[in-house]
Amino acid sequence: MSECIFCKIIAGLIPAQKVFENEDMLIIKDINPQAKIHYLLLPKEHYANIIEMTEEQAVKLGKCLKTLSQIANDLGLQGGFRLVSNKGTDARQTVGHLHIHILGGQLLSDKMA
Ligand code: 5GP
Ligand code: ZN
Repeated sequence: MSECIFCKIIAGLIPAQKVFENEDMLIIKDINPQAKIHYLLLPKEHYANIIEMTEEQAVKLGKCLKTLSQIANDLGLQGGFRLVSNKGTDARQTVGHLHIHILGGQLLSDKMA
């Protein structure tokens, strides 16, 4: 097992508040929310960011986003939401496992604006 904290969450080795899971992705609550609703969409496969992903991983990520659009209401996102993925140090990416921030409702800080 790698030292990646998100891989450990996906493997169930570290607890997280899961809101949705299927074969390709896990959606959890962010531990330090920057908006009224702040989830993280984690592809189950480890890759660092969108630059490093393969075509196959890109197709799977697209499928995950389609599923997200289908379950948005169930997740309390009917008022609208932002999707953010930080890549690299200039964007202040802190976890090197691709993740999409799902931000709903009012932002609580300008970190994601
Ligand atoms: P980044 O800065 O890489 O774009 O975002 C990483 C996000 O992961 C941050 O919003 C941070 O709060 C969240 N995070 C870091 N460690 C954990 C954890 O152990 N559990 C959960 N649920 N979120 C985490
Ligand atoms: Zn990982």
